[in-house]
Amino acid sequence: LSFALCNLPHKLLQNIESAGYEIPTPVQMQAIPAALKGESLLVSAETGSGKTASYLVPIVAYCANFRKEVVTNEKKPLAMVLTPTRELGIQVEEQAKVFGKGLPFKTALVVGGDAMPKQIHRVQAGIEMIVATPGRLIDLLTKYDIELNSVSILVIDEVDCMLQKGFREQVMQIFRALSQPQVLLYSATVPVEVEKMANLLAKEINIITV
Ligand code: AMP
Repeated sequence: LSFALCNLPHKLLQNIESAGYEIPTPVQMQAIPAALKGESLLVSAETGSGKTASYLVPIVAYCANFRKEVVTNEKKPLAMVLTPTRELGIQVEEQAKVFGKGLPFKTALVVGGDAMPKQIHRVQAGIEMIVATPGRLIDLLTKYDIELNSVSILVIDEVDCMLQKGFREQVMQIFRALSQPQVLLYSATVPVEVEKMANLLAKEINIITV
């Protein structure tokens, strides 16, 4: 499988090439086509496997196609990525910008350490994807009125780490604010708690191991 065979928007394909990605990594070969089909996934993948691009490529493709087909002035978020740390969130947003260049693909970063009014303005200005840590997102949701029912793809990166940090309840609370999104879960290890969460978040989940 190559990126060119994935039926991606032309501009996205160009951005992938410009980033120097020639061949998809094993996790990308499995996760990208499945995610593009709308499947929910539990992917066991470690940092360095190319996991970030394996969910960002389908997200950018989905958002670009959606904005092309559904023309509206009100750009509510279509995708959300939850990360256990601010640092990972920053990295995810940086990679997303590379893939989304020249496409209708704006992002908002909702993590601790930045001013909340700035973050909420960014979300309300109209974006495609929110990258957030659970604690800060809950803070934002309790203080401001944000509609998240437009979110069709939810990624939870480093699920094992997320649960270790005690974010389980926050993640479930965020999930309940969405309306049955496609769920893409990424975890280095897959202990029982991760499987349990996967089964709560998706009726049917396909497991990918590389
Ligand atoms: P990740 O596992 O998402 O942290 O990615 C590890 C590193 O691999 C990042 O620096 C990516 O930019 C890079 N990378 C991901 N996919 C590819 C690919 N298909 N070809 C070359 N480099 C890649």
